[in-house]
Amino acid sequence: MRVLDRPLTCVVCAGDRFTERSITIITSGLANSGFNKSGQAVTCAACGYIHQFVTGSVSPG
Ligand SMILES: [Zn+2]
Repeated sequence: MRVLDRPLTCVVCAGDRFTERSITIITSGLANSGFNKSGQAVTCAACGYIHQFVTGSVSPG
């Protein structure tokens, strides 16, 4: 997994294997209101820590 073309490392365990999925980030205070941002959640395969991104800057590899 890469962020802005740099390899992503887990901030907790320094792992380098992740699973990625798109998420909705509640920025408006209301779930399912249509005014929330979409983002990406990247979960560390080793410790399970979730790294969240709102900019879509995460790419596989
Ligand atoms: Zn980790």
